[in-house]
Amino acid sequence: MEKIPFNKPHLTGKETHYIYDAVNAGKISGNGKYTKLCQDYLKERYSFRKCLLTTSCTDALEMAALLIDIKPGDEVIMPSYTFVSTANAFVLRGAKIIFADSREDHPGIDEDSIEALITSKTKAIVPVHYAGVACDMDKIMALADKYDLFVIEDAAQAIESFYTGKDGIKRALGSIGHLAAFSFHETKNIISGEGGMLAINDPQFMAKAEIIWEKGTNRSAFFRGEVDKYGWVAVGSSFLPSEIIAAFLWAQLENLDDIQTKRLQHWNKYHEGLKEWAMENDIRLPGIPDFATNNAHMFYLVCKDLEQRNVVIDNLKSNGILAVFHYLSLHKSPFYLDQHDGRNLVNADRYTDCVVRLPFFYELEKDAINFIKNELYEAVKNI
Ligand SMILES: *Cc1c(COP(=O)(O)O)cnc(C)c1O
Repeated sequence: MEKIPFNKPHLTGKETHYIYDAVNAGKISGNGKYTKLCQDYLKERYSFRKCLLTTSCTDALEMAALLIDIKPGDEVIMPSYTFVSTANAFVLRGAKIIFADSREDHPGIDEDSIEALITSKTKAIVPVHYAGVACDMDKIMALADKYDLFVIEDAAQAIESFYTGKDGIKRALGSIGHLAAFSFHETKNIISGEGGMLAINDPQFMAKAEIIWEKGTNRSAFFRGEVDKYGWVAVGSSFLPSEIIAAFLWAQLENLDDIQTKRLQHWNKYHEGLKEWAMENDIRLPGIPDFATNNAHMFYLVCKDLEQRNVVIDNLKSNGILAVFHYLSLHKSPFYLDQHDGRNLVNADRYTDCVVRLPFFYELEKDAINFIKNELYEAVKNI
């Protein structure tokens, strides 16, 4: 069997057609036809109050840090077990990151550990919907209300995933916090190479977000005819993608349902094939709490220890299958170790040692999943 990569970007077929259209129309800078098509579609589908495409989720998080006016010394609470950008965006503005542990049963933030971390300096909580599986947003939003904090959802992996709160209403992830950041990086479900989006749910940020997006100018309002000249009105940067990226993204969004159907089939096939083996070998498969949905962003295993994970990764690799691990707890990173307050975060460390992500992409064939499954059976037999 041919080598099985970890990821393979899926093309729907229309990407180059729309890019050609954008180029042909003579409008390839940002905020044109395709940007608006994507933004309107996403806003409508997920009930965001407003959304702006960005060149990455990292950029969307940096916009969020600017919007909530993070100042040196402000504290921001987030899980340690996450991607660097979740923290970096706030550190850029001088924030001190207070890292929370993950849940025992899931790599997402332990919601019950957050309140003890809140101080008079806390400005925001940044939950990460790991693997597209919702954090318990009722608990987090209640804390934000009680202590007057902002909630910024790192929804990088969470497109087309939902949370059902105590009120019984099913809400899209990214539509619950004050702000939310999504990624369209080529390893995510919906892609544009590099790309992202900021969802804005708190109306106080709607006008300001557009200004930050357009280099600190009121250019967008000018083009809508709301002001008669445009100029420098606030601090900002260039966060908007070109129409070429938006055109690519539009082809993906048109096929969102097909992409999701396919990914869910793969996820279920993995789950079905591995659940018995996992149980026998002390390996945990991803769980979906009752309040969350599964958007099939990734399929991961939680091995019983580092040694077992090494066996899994090495054996798959020697059979041409690329499985990977991530993240390295940020509270122990070379950059942040001496700024962390020394608390042990045992679950974050355990996921750092034990998580392995299996190949996961649209074109993954049934045969490939069977092959991976059999190689896993071979690699780990009651060791
Ligand atoms: C992918 C990812 C990011 C970064 O997204 P980019 O679009 O590459 O900037 C941030 N946070 C999480 C949790 C991610 O998975």
